[in-house]
Amino acid sequence: MTDPILSSQNLARVQPSATMVVTQKARDLRAQGIDVIGLGAGEPDFDTPDHIKQAAIKAISEGKTKYTPVDGIPELKQAICTKFKRDNNLDYTPDQISVAPGGKPIIYNALVATLDPGDEVIIPTPCWVSYPEMVRLAGGTPVLVSCTQADQYKLSAKALREAITPQTKWLILNSPSNPTGMLYSAGELAALAEVLVGHERIMILSDDMYEHLVYDDHEFATIADVAPDLYARTLTMNGLSKAYAMTGWRVGYAGGPAPLIKLMAKVMAQTTSNACSISQWAAVEALNGPHDFIETRNVIFVKRRDVVVSLLNEAKGIECTVPDGAFYVYPSCAGLIGKTSAGGRVLHTDVDVASALLEEAHVAVVPGSAFHSSPNFRISYATDMRSLETACARIGAFCETVK
Ligand code: GLU
Repeated sequence: MTDPILSSQNLARVQPSATMVVTQKARDLRAQGIDVIGLGAGEPDFDTPDHIKQAAIKAISEGKTKYTPVDGIPELKQAICTKFKRDNNLDYTPDQISVAPGGKPIIYNALVATLDPGDEVIIPTPCWVSYPEMVRLAGGTPVLVSCTQADQYKLSAKALREAITPQTKWLILNSPSNPTGMLYSAGELAALAEVLVGHERIMILSDDMYEHLVYDDHEFATIADVAPDLYARTLTMNGLSKAYAMTGWRVGYAGGPAPLIKLMAKVMAQTTSNACSISQWAAVEALNGPHDFIETRNVIFVKRRDVVVSLLNEAKGIECTVPDGAFYVYPSCAGLIGKTSAGGRVLHTDVDVASALLEEAHVAVVPGSAFHSSPNFRISYATDMRSLETACARIGAFCETVK
């Protein structure tokens, strides 16, 4: 008998989400009683601040538990307009705002709403696992542009110019970057903008999810502000998950051209409908309420980053640069490739390195190949210092025994 449950050809071309797979593997091993340290998914260990939780509880008590307008309640859209003006010097009106159940649906809705077969989306790599796959799901073609460590894994104007074809529909930018933590300066964005100004049909998706997680003396910049000429064809997206520690609440949002926002609402109305009503009210409080906890938490993130970078650099075969933001480090494991682990595993690729680290050292990391750049792996340091130190010690010990 043939199996009636067969993947569509389109979905068959899509890779599973490596960040989700690694996180689930770590969960499964832990459930078997194995002491695995999960540094896979990028999820802050901090709790959602209490004033935000209270706003959600109040919303429940007040019966704000029904359908809302498909792409967001007016109060949240207004709070988002205020946020864009306050933090990014960007003027948006509520008809230019979309709210969805997470950052992922914002991106996916924008792609589904605009891509036809043959349309290309330029994605600098290393890139977040989901961009190319969402492009494929939406029927488009991802064009991956490899960015080197020497370029701090950032797209140059030259590389952008060379990647553009008559089929290019979108460029996706992500700063600070998942997985590298690198940040585009205003100058670097201006150089990219100069190329884009001459290509009026290309839209820009600026994924600013890690905006508030920027360290040292680096300053966050976003392309619609740096290059006002591009404002009318830029979708500036963001969300509550990372800086506000609200991953499970599922609230993402974007500001962009009203006609695009309308198309995205059309997609939502036939698929997910609104983001959770309670989460939206919590998001209003998050955006309008006090923000000082972000600074306090960033001080902790910097300490963790510095410890992780320095411990990893002590490990044989691993080289780690200091990222500007987010909560990831993206070390090279080139020095381990071709060698054999104590458990007898030949480390041909960074997938082998990540598997060996999980099974032999009980540390869950995401292999660089998932981000289309090898040989590396990504560590999320959004977890407590003790776990990070233990994990790095385990990685160090693992590297010592590799022959
Ligand atoms: N964005 C986070 C990560 O890269 C969460 C997992 C996901 O959505 O892929 O780990």
